[in-house]
Amino acid sequence: MAEAFDVVIAGAGPAGLSAGIVLAEHDLRVLVADARRLPADKPCGEGIMPNGVLHLRELGIDRHLPADAVRPFSGIRYRTVAGGREAAASFAEGPGWGMRRIDLAAAFLARAREVPSLEIRERASVRPLARSSTAVELEVGGKPITTRLLIGADGLASRVRRWAGLERRTPRRAAKRWGVRRHFAISPWSDEVEVHFARGAEAYVTPCGGGRVNVAFLWDRDRAGRIGKGAALVESMLMRFPLLARQLDGAEPTDEPRATGPLRRVARAPVSDGVLLIGDAAGYLDAITGEGISLATGQALALERAIVHRLRRGWEVPSARDLHRYAEAHRAIVQPYYRLTKMVLRLARHPRLAERVIGALAREPDVLQHLLSANMGLASPYWFGLGPTARFLRSLLRPAPGRTSTPRPSQATRAVSMSS
Ligand SMILES: Cc1cc2nc3c(=O)[nH]c(=O)nc-3n(C[C@H](O)[C@H](O)[C@H](O)COP(=O)(O)OP(=O)(O)OC[C@H]3O[C@@H](n4cnc5c(N)ncnc54)[C@H](O)[C@@H]3O)c2cc1C
Repeated sequence: MAEAFDVVIAGAGPAGLSAGIVLAEHDLRVLVADARRLPADKPCGEGIMPNGVLHLRELGIDRHLPADAVRPFSGIRYRTVAGGREAAASFAEGPGWGMRRIDLAAAFLARAREVPSLEIRERASVRPLARSSTAVELEVGGKPITTRLLIGADGLASRVRRWAGLERRTPRRAAKRWGVRRHFAISPWSDEVEVHFARGAEAYVTPCGGGRVNVAFLWDRDRAGRIGKGAALVESMLMRFPLLARQLDGAEPTDEPRATGPLRRVARAPVSDGVLLIGDAAGYLDAITGEGISLATGQALALERAIVHRLRRGWEVPSARDLHRYAEAHRAIVQPYYRLTKMVLRLARHPRLAERVIGALAREPDVLQHLLSANMGLASPYWFGLGPTARFLRSLLRPAPGRTSTPRPSQATRAVSMSS
């Protein structure tokens, strides 16, 4: 006979484990199953934005993070390789956290294991089989399971999304972006995440705990030209970023590169009868603004108000309509990020525009700070206040002078800590 759970979650990444924690804390019987051994590493830029830091605290993940695993960062610095322009701003909301993905995954797992009605199975792939108004039938690690709600938290290439008929074809041009990351043993030289723009590729550097930096490259297959494979991939990318190559000179890599793609994924909707999608499975735009974990954890926290009451009320499978509050919450969470990240991707595609915009932002760091907040959904993306908007537009229209840079943050901004 098949075992029964209120909710089965496919995938134990940040989305799946956060959802499991939120739902099981309301006494729902929840199973989270992952195809891989846990905790699982994956390609990631490893910068958690300030809103994501709040989510980690709300979920209780921070209690399981060793202090030396976390390296706070105060803001973001954008650089263009060709024109040498630089613009930086600190976050208005306090620091973000840089940390190795494997440390974060271990903390998620430790926290999830504290929750009594949450069961976790590793090396147990989820295979959806059938759904009706009374049950969703699955195989988990080859064993039959029934549930009222299947949550697809199974990442970019989500099987649940396809099975539920929620997959939408990605536009061809958008399906060309890939990412790779590698750690280097070197004391972080900055307390900012640095994003470098070169033609056809971007590099971003996140200070991590344990005397390491994470270097992630994102590139467009059509525009990046010749690129290597395996370890040569990172070397061929580094050659496009001479300043970064100098900063890393002599630093040993501490692991093998990990790559993934294509990044862009589109779902028709985040819900259908008996099925809900969360995290990358619900659609993904790009890693360039480093928001994936903040979005996934935000979506999981939204489950509490959106679906818990519904699941506690009855024993039937919720219809797509019953899940509409989650669909609305999902839209509200991802919309600001999509708006701003599309703008940053436009800069990545148009180097001359990037020179101009970054030059203008260097002169108006308040506007950049505002845009960082807007990307997290914490400020309007269209309105920065009369004075800054007028100055920014003037700067944008003014012919760009030579190389520009925003000064490094003051000592006061630098003195961020985990408790701030
Ligand atoms: C190069 C790169 C850089 C990035 N940089 C950042 C950054 O700096 N900051 C940030 O916040 N985000 C970043 N992201 C995005 C972030 O990594 C993702 O948004 C985040 O991992 C999403 O979490 P998730 O739980 O939805 O998916 P995942 O972390 O991918 O987890 C999905 C899990 O599902 C499991 N699975 C798959 N299929 C099945 C199945 N059939 N049955 C059971 N289990 C299954 C997988 O094994 C996996 O463990 C980056 C992404 C990339 C690619």
